[in-house]
Amino acid sequence: MTYQSPISPGRSWYEDTAGPRPEYAPLDGDRTADVAIVGGGFTGLSAAAHLAKAGVNVVLIDAHRFGDGASGRNGGQLGTGQRGSLDEMEAAWGWERAKALFDIAEEAKAHVLEFARVNAIGIDFVPGQLSVAHKKRYVEDYRKYADYMRERAGYPHVTFMDREETAWRLGSSRYHGGVRDAGTGHIHPLKLTIGTARVAAEAGATLHEKTAATRIENRGAKVAITTPTGRITADKALIATNAYNAGLEKESSSHIMPIGSFIGATVPLGADSPVLPGGESVDDSRFVVRYFRKSVDGRLLFGGREIYAVTDPKDIPAAIRRQIVEIYPALKDVEITHGWGGYVGITVPRKPFVREVMPNVISAGGYSGHGVMLSNFMGKLYAETVAGNRDRLKLFEELKIPAFPGGQRFRSVLLFLALNWYALRDRI
Ligand SMILES: Cc1cc2nc3c(=O)[nH]c(=O)nc-3n(C[C@H](O)[C@H](O)[C@H](O)COP(=O)(O)OP(=O)(O)OC[C@H]3O[C@@H](n4cnc5c(N)ncnc54)[C@H](O)[C@@H]3O)c2cc1C
Repeated sequence: MTYQSPISPGRSWYEDTAGPRPEYAPLDGDRTADVAIVGGGFTGLSAAAHLAKAGVNVVLIDAHRFGDGASGRNGGQLGTGQRGSLDEMEAAWGWERAKALFDIAEEAKAHVLEFARVNAIGIDFVPGQLSVAHKKRYVEDYRKYADYMRERAGYPHVTFMDREETAWRLGSSRYHGGVRDAGTGHIHPLKLTIGTARVAAEAGATLHEKTAATRIENRGAKVAITTPTGRITADKALIATNAYNAGLEKESSSHIMPIGSFIGATVPLGADSPVLPGGESVDDSRFVVRYFRKSVDGRLLFGGREIYAVTDPKDIPAAIRRQIVEIYPALKDVEITHGWGGYVGITVPRKPFVREVMPNVISAGGYSGHGVMLSNFMGKLYAETVAGNRDRLKLFEELKIPAFPGGQRFRSVLLFLALNWYALRDRI
């Protein structure tokens, strides 16, 4: 029987193309460790790999299978910088801080590719990203952004595209202009998840799937993590549960809100298809962003969500088809072979949440749809912190992310209303 993630809807195209997905036995009995990690997505597995390589005794548990959360099921786009552009960050926080956060994200991008290369993880990297304006009035912003990135940030890879170039590069005349970023690209996320787990295990990390933490607490100078099948006692712990925290630790869940996002994969479109001839990934200017790209075998992988509902769509392929057709009308009858979703962890200012939530317990998540590179790098920064250098992790800790208003009970209702408002604005 094919496996279905118990925490995210649908079976992904990634699961059918990632190759062998080794299983890791559940925890069986009590353990001690230097560091315990809760959550086996990019954040946790990357931390485990970097810690184990540095000789730290690390135990990682995941309630389900590695990659069942966002890391194995996302859009695969690396992006550039933090969520929100450098010019916006400069306006909010000044140049020095904004540039430091931009530079760390550039390092994060390079780290993903280098980590995969050094550890022989095939991640199907394809370069290039197009960011496109769904309204004419946004085109000038993209032109200014390209100039700013080149002249102010010293980032030479972004070029402005007029309407004609945009139409050619997309294979669609739906958008009005945009930018092309040749300094980034997209990957197969589940291959990276599986590969990072392998690297961590080979370096000596102890990994357990299907082992849920039910409680995290300080006991004297130690941290104790309770599971149904044993307790882990460690000097330090990392909470890397992101959008899937489900109340395990209250500070994390009051600062990181889960939002469903959904992807459909078509059959291969064929070599003569006009769709994305350059192979770039795409994100658009909607607040409820649409993101798409072609897979290495020529399928369109299209992501987004049409309306903000409290529950997941019953028929993900049908919801995704409606969005595909707006951009590619010729694909109205294309077969959609896979439809799946997952939960993005967002924060109020759409920047990562990193905090010591109890003594010796750090929580990291809330990458707000920009976590493919950032979450992997966060694992490295956490390992640096354990080794005694917290300077770079501090850059994120100092962002002082606020909690969502409304408390646990009302925040999703408030967010639901706010997001629907923005979704409506996307249309007018
Ligand atoms: C559909 C979708 C599309 C996306 N597209 C992009 C994109 O194109 N580019 C981009 O940069 N970002 C994207 N993202 C976001 C990106 O995937 C995430 O930021 C990133 O994967 C976060 O990794 P993580 O390890 O922090 O969390 P996750 O990968 O979600 O892992 C959390 C893990 O914690 C485990 N867990 C939860 N509770 C417990 C517990 N009590 N005990 C033990 N384990 C527990 C879960 O089982 C899960 O495996 C997307 C996300 C989604 C869902």
